[in-house]
Amino acid sequence: MSSVYPQQTPPSPPESPSEATVEVYALSGGHFSLPERFFVNPASDTARRTVPSLSFLVVHRDEETDRTTRIVFDLGLRRDIKRYSPPIQKHVETRQPMVTLPDVTASLASGGLTPDDIDYVIYSHVHWDHVGEPRDFSRSTFVIGSGAKALLQGQGSLRGSHSFFESDLLPTDRTIELSNPYEDIDEETKHQILDPKGPDFIQEWKPSRNLPRVLDIFHDGSLLIVDSPGHLPGHINLLARTSPTTSVYLAGDACHDRRIMRNERQIGEWMDEHGHVCCIHADKKLAEQTIERIQALEKSGVEVIFAHDFEWEEDPKNRSRFFGSS
Ligand SMILES: [Zn+2]
Repeated sequence: MSSVYPQQTPPSPPESPSEATVEVYALSGGHFSLPERFFVNPASDTARRTVPSLSFLVVHRDEETDRTTRIVFDLGLRRDIKRYSPPIQKHVETRQPMVTLPDVTASLASGGLTPDDIDYVIYSHVHWDHVGEPRDFSRSTFVIGSGAKALLQGQGSLRGSHSFFESDLLPTDRTIELSNPYEDIDEETKHQILDPKGPDFIQEWKPSRNLPRVLDIFHDGSLLIVDSPGHLPGHINLLARTSPTTSVYLAGDACHDRRIMRNERQIGEWMDEHGHVCCIHADKKLAEQTIERIQALEKSGVEVIFAHDFEWEEDPKNRSRFFGSS
């Protein structure tokens, strides 16, 4: 969407692979309830599950320039649900009970930050339970995956009442839509740099760490944006190296339940009132392939966290992983 400083030379990648890392903190972004049959199969018809809408703060420090970049991945639920568009408000009624506080802004405050301290908000995707209150982040630049802009503008035909979008969600002059991972970027786009000293969002998608399409936004391997198709057009994940030997994979809505990761359940499907088969993922086949890649990462020792990861949140040892907890 925006290209603020066009036609500058992109930074060259480092000569040798570094051991650069980022810090990752969980942020509470509210809780809501989902019928279990919407995400796993088999499931009882009546079982419901309270799930968090987890967001994350990622902090990168550039050793050479001493510059700190703060990124928030997803903004969770909007604290005032009356500020959602009417169709989303109607859908939200089916997701009660719901608690929107603490939201991401309150979660940042518990660690001493305000939205003004956040340089970038990266959305895994633009479903209502991830977009939060972008109005709070009046200085941040928003980053969305390829295809998300068209969804927000009402283009596309997705089935299911969870697929309503707000065309005025994001500020046009502070929003970057990533390039299509399946197309070469043209010469003109290639030489656009949004912030010459900041992360590089305009580059070719490349394979890395056994993943076919990633963007190494700091050119040091510390934080990769990962193409993770299936759930919704433009769905992206983050792979963060948190120490020379540990990494965290923030999976957004690539999966909703650890039993699917353990192959104990399959992705849920249900029938809507018109007799159409619905799935929480826009493209179930692609979602299955994405899950297989995440399973391989987990097998290799990477920690995987989903946005609605109730098992991760309920684990007492993860309490200290929330921003401001210590
Ligand atoms: Zn979603």
